[in-house]
Amino acid sequence: MKREGAHKVREPRRPPTPAHPSLAIVHASELLTLRGPRGPRIREAMSDLGIVEDGAVYIEGSRIVDVGPSAEVLRRHPRAGRTIDASGKIVLPGFVDAHTHAVFAGSREHELEWKAQGLTYTEIANRGGGILHTVRATREADEATLAGLASDRLATMIAHGTTTAEVKSGYGLRTADELKILQAASSAGRASGVTVVPTFLGAHAVPPEFEGRADAYADLVASESIDAVVSSRAASFCDVFLEPGYFDPPQARRVLQKAATVGLGLKIHADELSDSGGASLAAELRATSADHLLHVSAAGVDALATAGVIGVLLPATSLASRLPYADGRRLVDAGVPVALGTDFNPNCWCESMQLAIALACHHNGLLPAQAITAATINSAYAVGRGDTTGSLEAGKAADVLVCDAPAHQHLGYRLGGNLVGTVVRGGRIIETRALTK
Ligand SMILES: [Zn+2]
Repeated sequence: MKREGAHKVREPRRPPTPAHPSLAIVHASELLTLRGPRGPRIREAMSDLGIVEDGAVYIEGSRIVDVGPSAEVLRRHPRAGRTIDASGKIVLPGFVDAHTHAVFAGSREHELEWKAQGLTYTEIANRGGGILHTVRATREADEATLAGLASDRLATMIAHGTTTAEVKSGYGLRTADELKILQAASSAGRASGVTVVPTFLGAHAVPPEFEGRADAYADLVASESIDAVVSSRAASFCDVFLEPGYFDPPQARRVLQKAATVGLGLKIHADELSDSGGASLAAELRATSADHLLHVSAAGVDALATAGVIGVLLPATSLASRLPYADGRRLVDAGVPVALGTDFNPNCWCESMQLAIALACHHNGLLPAQAITAATINSAYAVGRGDTTGSLEAGKAADVLVCDAPAHQHLGYRLGGNLVGTVVRGGRIIETRALTK
């Protein structure tokens, strides 16, 4: 007791120990804060990463508490429980993957041989490949199996820096199977540590039992399926694959209008294989995002910009399906907020937002800074999480990456590797390469 009392007398000279476990990441060659006014970034703001040289971020519990030059942050918070020296490295917000289909059974590696022989996406679907191949396997799998498969994929994503991922259903195409997929997505998020934002994509394709009756299937999605999704709180967004051979604008409008009335956010697979009016419909319905946009019309681009709909670019799909690349520079110049996703799915097995960034720079016409903005703060807004993640600012979730590169341009420049050395998700170090001291 005496010793303890004596100890207490000396304590007040030192700053109080933080109430929560604390972590400081210091001396980053470039700290990419992405700080700025609330809302997705457009035009010039997409090139402003809010870089602090020799920067630091200080974290308590699951939140960011302080961000700035290392000297100032260390003076204000000299006693972090753990310190990571990021000298010679860049530090940035965790990536937000705005578009994935990470829950499915089976795989489609055999289709690569058809692709290599020159078959198109549509020709592969006509051979019994494509979405419906995956639907058959996914219907047969139970929820636990799907959650396990998705968890492994999300674990690879987080090792490549993705701390938040949107995950769609769409390989069940029956109410019970769609719900099974959405529940598996949420379980996989909890198991892997990735923050999952689930999206209901019942209108991904017309299931075989509704062949030739797309209207009837769209009506089922817009009634029974959406009602079930909402009553079980299984999704935050509703998405539709709007494309000839899938769903037309009137069918998409019915599904999305119903989704809006029950409080789901809206997304559209828009103008991927043809100019099918997806961007215009997204603008008309004030959707959160219009995704793909390979064939978007000039009127569609203007409509997106006017309505403030986020354009989500998915360049890995163009790579995997040998499609043209969306004109990202045109979208930025027109004032469309641009975000990025991997489109991870059995046709495009890409877990890496770093590869998406590199492809966006090489093929979508984005500057490295614009691609990083697209992959962080703008993607966060594209999945409805822009107020809680996507930038390094006091009060936001402590989702932080330390990358083995001295400048941000390396993220666009290097192809196919993994520059992420340390991932912090919600204040917790998920994966590290011995950077701590
Ligand atoms: Zn998709």
